[in-house]
Amino acid sequence: MSKQAAASMNTHNAPRASDYFGSLTFSGDVMLKRLPPQVFMNLQRTVQSGVPLDRSIANTVASAIKDWALEHGATHYCHWFQPLTGATAEKHDAFLSPTGDGGAIEKFSGDALIQGEPDASSFPSGGIRDTYEARGYTAWDATSPVFLLRGADGQKTLCIPTAFVSWTGEALDQKTPLLRSIDAVSKHALRLVKLLGDTKATNVISTLGCEQEYFLVDRELFRERLDLLICGRTLVGAQPPKGQQMEDHYFGSIPEPVLAFMSECEERLFELGIPVKTRHNEVAPRQFELAPTFEKANVAIDHQMTVMHVLRSVAHRHGFECLLHEKPFAGINGSGKHNNWSLSTDSGANLLDPRDETHSNMQFLVFLAAVIRAVDLHADILRASIASAHNDHRLGANEAPPAIMSIYLGEMLTDILDQLERGEAKRSNQGGELDLGARTLPQIPRHSSDRNRTSPFAFTGNKFEFRAVGSSQSVAWPNTVLNTMVAESLDFIATSLEKKVGKNPPPGKLEAAVRAMLKELVKEHRRVCFDGNGYSAEWHAEAAKRGLPNFPSTAEALPALLTKKAQKLFSTYGVLSSRELHARAEIQMEQYCKLVQIEARTLAQMVHTQIMPAVLRAQGELADVVAATQHAGVNCPDTEASLGDFVRLVSTLRKATEVLGTALLRDETAIEKRVKHFRSEVIPAMGEVRKACDALERVVSADLWPIPCYAELLFAS
Ligand code: ADP
Ligand code: MG
Repeated sequence: MSKQAAASMNTHNAPRASDYFGSLTFSGDVMLKRLPPQVFMNLQRTVQSGVPLDRSIANTVASAIKDWALEHGATHYCHWFQPLTGATAEKHDAFLSPTGDGGAIEKFSGDALIQGEPDASSFPSGGIRDTYEARGYTAWDATSPVFLLRGADGQKTLCIPTAFVSWTGEALDQKTPLLRSIDAVSKHALRLVKLLGDTKATNVISTLGCEQEYFLVDRELFRERLDLLICGRTLVGAQPPKGQQMEDHYFGSIPEPVLAFMSECEERLFELGIPVKTRHNEVAPRQFELAPTFEKANVAIDHQMTVMHVLRSVAHRHGFECLLHEKPFAGINGSGKHNNWSLSTDSGANLLDPRDETHSNMQFLVFLAAVIRAVDLHADILRASIASAHNDHRLGANEAPPAIMSIYLGEMLTDILDQLERGEAKRSNQGGELDLGARTLPQIPRHSSDRNRTSPFAFTGNKFEFRAVGSSQSVAWPNTVLNTMVAESLDFIATSLEKKVGKNPPPGKLEAAVRAMLKELVKEHRRVCFDGNGYSAEWHAEAAKRGLPNFPSTAEALPALLTKKAQKLFSTYGVLSSRELHARAEIQMEQYCKLVQIEARTLAQMVHTQIMPAVLRAQGELADVVAATQHAGVNCPDTEASLGDFVRLVSTLRKATEVLGTALLRDETAIEKRVKHFRSEVIPAMGEVRKACDALERVVSADLWPIPCYAELLFAS
């Protein structure tokens, strides 16, 4: 249902969201109605249980999808994929196909559905794609629904979610390793679930819900600032008198124009079957948040990419620009993406949800311990998965989690860890009776209410919330890492238990083995758990004492992907070969350098072509005043002093810009050296330029300042 159509209806019979939810996706009912029953069942096996796709049904499915898409007015189709640029990519083909006799028909074959062949040469490959062999393939991921993406004028394109690999089958995208990691974690979780006595589960899935923070600024003002236009963040800007100190924005009433924007986004997302649930003002002025209900991780990640796309494009229709950057403005909060993650069986049991019965409790504690172990062993890789030049502005900046990866558990669970470590079993006296047999594991309260916003990885009742993820980044990579490292822990635990008790142990024996195992795991890995203030200097000191890695920036964080440990982790679970992992690390490093270089060049250009001319004009005006005052025979030491001060500020800016220019010229060739160069030379030089600019902005006449200031951007619209 389009907005116009909705508006034309009387409000009493306005369509309900549930009526058009998913109407632009080829899934559920649409599939059931349009596919022959056998084909439907066959495809569902792939969608629901991950059974490999049966190619023989492709033509029938393609034909049904084509009819459905054409009925909705689609003219083109595309393989929609996620190359390593961090964005999505699509190459459109028309359904229209000439018949050779001057006429045309619409065509879409099974082959076109299943496989595409985009030229891979213009996507980052980290050295995987040889220049002489540019072929890349996209392959249909039937586990994520095909959908119709609306353009600004209502035109629709059929999008087929696909994986993107090189001609050698190596991953060139985000989805391929993600799907592999989902398989890995599923396999070992299922093994463990079965060992612990669950007879019903046939599959384990990872679930994901991502809260998205963003800023909305006036589009006209946005376009007047080269830094926002090119880099998506402000590179200069003096602090306005008011920031977020009044705490009057968070959860405040949503401004009407913003609400109109949010409603249209929701409408567009509902059509695409994306279950957005919450919307609210965030902490900083002009900062907002949207969150969906969680879904299977693969679908949630495709949906997350679409959420970012819809936010950006709908914003334009409302006169806004949506800034997804991690730190658009200095001095106020940046934006993150809380990555809520859990594991669940196909029978619907959330494995990280503490239950009342002991059996599930045991399961919960084992999975909890597996995550703790995984984060402790692979904190460095987890940290690297969210490293970017953008996110560096947030992490550790006293508004976002620190760069030290630790786990927040809350008081109750911490107490349980204490008990487990002591090897004691707190008895439950439910119903007044002590159960000395099975109830030897502690009872866990279902809802731990504590929330600690300073922790990067928090247990929040029935899921883990990875809060260090950046707002503009694809969540595919952090989830790939999370799934893989947890798969490794689950494998380790399952294998150790099997060794001790066999595959079908009697309950008593199993429980004793689990208890012993939990004791060991807690003892060894609980150093990664920390409930206190993650921003504090004491924690940094304490974390160092505990031997936890602390990589303050991307430059220090990325080498974790090049270690033997990382190679072993990803290759053992078939997620990434050493070559694929190396390529990814290299791309992340390249992107870091490119981003900083673009920012530095943008800053230099703004200084040369906008700020310096403006301040020289201001200097001229001031000099004229001094000359005129002197000419009038008036003694004017104050005015002269102001001119002297001003000239000194301008000179500081000139020198700082020169230093930046020199740093930009002195580039390195080896990628590791380039990263270091940008980190230790270019970024600090940009900081000095900014300081000088901001000092001048505070004293230059407002009518001369060439770009919109922070107050306008944050409060004028
Ligand atoms: P907040 O963290 O702001 O308090 P909620 O706890 O309600 O908000 O949930 C945040 C996100 O976590 C939502 O997207 C929600 O769907 C998601 N979520 C809830 N349960 C799970 C789960 N089992 N697996 C993954 N995500 C979940
Ligand atoms: Mg949250």
